[in-house]
Amino acid sequence: MQAAVIIQPKRIEMQELSLPEPAPGELSVRVMASGICGTDVHIFEGEYLGSYPVIPGHEFAGTVEKAGGSVTRFKAGDRVAVEPNIACDNCVNCLNNRHNFCLNWQAVGVTRPGGMAQYVTVPEKAVFDIGDLPFEQGAFMEPLSCVLHGLERLDLAAAARVAILGAGPIGLLLLQAIRLQGAAEVAAVDKNPDRAALAGSLGADRSLTDLDELARDAYDAVVDATGAVAVMGRTLDFVRPGGKILLFGVPPAGQEMTVEAFPIFRKGLTILSSFTSLRNSYQALSLLKSGRVRVDGLISHRLPLEELQRGIELIEEGREQVCKVIVLPNS
Ligand SMILES: [Zn+2]
Ligand SMILES: [Zn+2]
Repeated sequence: MQAAVIIQPKRIEMQELSLPEPAPGELSVRVMASGICGTDVHIFEGEYLGSYPVIPGHEFAGTVEKAGGSVTRFKAGDRVAVEPNIACDNCVNCLNNRHNFCLNWQAVGVTRPGGMAQYVTVPEKAVFDIGDLPFEQGAFMEPLSCVLHGLERLDLAAAARVAILGAGPIGLLLLQAIRLQGAAEVAAVDKNPDRAALAGSLGADRSLTDLDELARDAYDAVVDATGAVAVMGRTLDFVRPGGKILLFGVPPAGQEMTVEAFPIFRKGLTILSSFTSLRNSYQALSLLKSGRVRVDGLISHRLPLEELQRGIELIEEGREQVCKVIVLPNS
């Protein structure tokens, strides 16, 4: 099979590898659609967890190619998506319902081979039935489950006024999920006018390209979906006294965020972050299958596997129109 391997930061090599055999309790999945995530960009740049070489890709859907021994829920041909974070279920964090901080944490596409290949093996417990959902939409199960976990952490009150900084794929999923939670007003800001317009078409009440046009001290919650440390620090400006900040975007490892400390005290702020997800895949699939969260409009590019590096570069350049880039390893 063909696989795109990041052999060291900033170097991707196409490799011909033998088909991975599922161990007992595992499945092999034929990958039909695999989303490039900001995390993959960080892995490519050497700014994230994990070691090299690695086959990236943790947002994907496909069909079951082969079920290993003792697999009970799936058979060959089933249409599935994969929850990439794999917990051991047997450490102090797993036993305290904090599986996302498993001490033996493994992640498909980070610490074990991922979905930027024609086939990948995963444990059965990481696999979810997507039914008739198109593969490209199934590939959004993972980012949407992370978004839902973040919103569980944020715990918005009814009729909240929310500002979202960044209208890339994650910001646009946040926008839709926050509207479903009964927000009274959602504003979205992205310096890229195409993305700001997309936010408007997906239900943002205000979509802006200039952060300085956003009302100060106004929002019950401000959510950063950029992961850019300079923008993350600005969240403090727009949140109302007593409000909440959710730092959702993934910043590059090693960078410092500078904020004035006094306003945190003066405004009595709650500042939250969110790491991966916690059993949110069923919820994510429910929203995708029902059409309550729409993802078709988020896909800007579809590329063959050999063009993974080009896809990463498109995201890094962040030009107009670039939103979600999907890799199709088997077409
Ligand atoms: Zn991701
Ligand atoms: Zn564990």
